[in-house]
Amino acid sequence: MSLCCPTCKKRIHGSGRKELKSKNLLPFCSEKCKLIDLGAWLDAEYRITSTKDENNEGIELSNSN
Ligand SMILES: [Zn+2]
Repeated sequence: MSLCCPTCKKRIHGSGRKELKSKNLLPFCSEKCKLIDLGAWLDAEYRITSTKDENNEGIELSNSN
């Protein structure tokens, strides 16, 4: 079974996998890739949330009118 890092798509081999698992970095190949993915996800969610809030405000205003 081979794993690929979701961030850089690098293949994670069996020997490296044990070490990554002990460091809680799986499925990423390194701490850097884990942080990049986490950061990108948080950034995306923040943008979606702020857009949603703007939309809700617009809907509320048009409903009360
Ligand atoms: Zn990686």
